[in-house]
Amino acid sequence: MLKPKTLQVYNTLSHQKEDFVPLLADGKADVVGMYSCWPTAYWSPSIGNYRASRTADLLRNTLTHLCGYPVKSVMNITDVGHLTSDGDTGEDKLEKGAKRDWITAREVAKKYEAEFFDWLEKLHIEKFDVMPKATEHIQQQIELVKTLEEKGYTYEIPGDGIYMDTSKVDDYGKLMGPNYKKRLEHLNAGERIEMGGKKHLTDFALWKFNMTGKKRDMERNSPRGIGFPGWHIECSAMSSQYLWKQFDIHHGGVDHITVHHSAEIAQSECAFGEKPRVKYWLHNEFLQVDGGKMSKSLGNVYTLRDLEEKGFSPLDLRYFYFMAQYSNPQNFTWEALTQAKSTRANLQKKIAKFQPTEAEHSQKPLPATFAELIATYPAAENFLTQIDEAMKDNFNTPKLLSVVNNTLISPTKEELAVLYRLEERILKVWLFDLVNSSATETSPSEVPAEILALAQQRFQAKQEKNYTLADELRTQIQEAGYSVKDTATGFTVETLL
Ligand SMILES: [Zn+2]
Repeated sequence: MLKPKTLQVYNTLSHQKEDFVPLLADGKADVVGMYSCWPTAYWSPSIGNYRASRTADLLRNTLTHLCGYPVKSVMNITDVGHLTSDGDTGEDKLEKGAKRDWITAREVAKKYEAEFFDWLEKLHIEKFDVMPKATEHIQQQIELVKTLEEKGYTYEIPGDGIYMDTSKVDDYGKLMGPNYKKRLEHLNAGERIEMGGKKHLTDFALWKFNMTGKKRDMERNSPRGIGFPGWHIECSAMSSQYLWKQFDIHHGGVDHITVHHSAEIAQSECAFGEKPRVKYWLHNEFLQVDGGKMSKSLGNVYTLRDLEEKGFSPLDLRYFYFMAQYSNPQNFTWEALTQAKSTRANLQKKIAKFQPTEAEHSQKPLPATFAELIATYPAAENFLTQIDEAMKDNFNTPKLLSVVNNTLISPTKEELAVLYRLEERILKVWLFDLVNSSATETSPSEVPAEILALAQQRFQAKQEKNYTLADELRTQIQEAGYSVKDTATGFTVETLL
């Protein structure tokens, strides 16, 4: 019998792979809390941004569907203006977008936020449980700055803002690795970053005053004057509101480790007094393009629209993301995406040949867990065990793909049934969306009228609960080279190829 493995995750905080033991195991929480950083909405998100969103989706779905934890997932929406550099200098990202698009910063945030949600839907990434907006949590951010001021962790740079004094935080930068103190010394000594009035290189803005005399699109009144919050403070404010002062998983891109997440740990642990702020820090690596950096100057910052224009579906990209483990860099090339597209289409053709019988379809309840699946299809236990092992090895999706693709070279009926059931019901938004998407669908005009007539008769037989006749009709349809699938409103017919 399948013994579910313990999930292992690579924790940036301990710099090693560890068993995942959530706070709820010690009775310190009711659910597994997970927080992900959202890409600032000031430009059409790139396929690199979506790798981060897809990682958040993968973590959430694996914890929920494979591990069976109750999960509360939060992804913030950064719709407040922030500066283009991590060093609290440069232009406000949203104001920059506003100038470019001839609209206000608020409209910029709305425009790209709407676009982001549209594409998440096309990638079959479900919304997270809570998606709080930074602009709707300014008061909480102001309160947090006030707490840090009262506890003596801040200083003011007149005419600039309120800054966190990182020299007062003993373990500032611990997320950077075992040698973080050395790395910070090196940074302090060697980096030629504009210090402004900052006392230490790693100090960061909690609140910036607006001293330009010009009204900004995004500014607020606070007890410390008109201004706007520093970027990092929003994540501490919103994660503590929706996930408490200590929680299980914080996820984001590796580019956030040195500044954004180090700042978040420092300000949260100082304000709330709970350590560790977050038990497991999970970071997805960068998506490269053609072996190099994605950059606007190279013209290789691709969006999902670029992919669609070249005839790819967002689900091909979803499959492509599976080809590398989230914690490793992934290299995007058009050839690799083409390979993802054809492998996915092959899998889809294989699975389309498996059709549950009407007797199985009418069976209630359908297997809803791994254990129930094994009980229903015991001969596929080995396949399920391998899937379980791959995913619990720090979400090892390349291992998962090789298990699935190897098994499907000449699958048993039970193995096909297992994959179909996983896709259809248990992990339907977890894997590849082979069953619920329509890459091999043909338009009705391509299906001969006599086949459509058989499908119609089968539909009728099902309505009348004559499952024996319905199964016979489906066999006839399959022998003619087509498959019939049920939909919410009726059925669709596809070529088997
Ligand atoms: Zn964040």
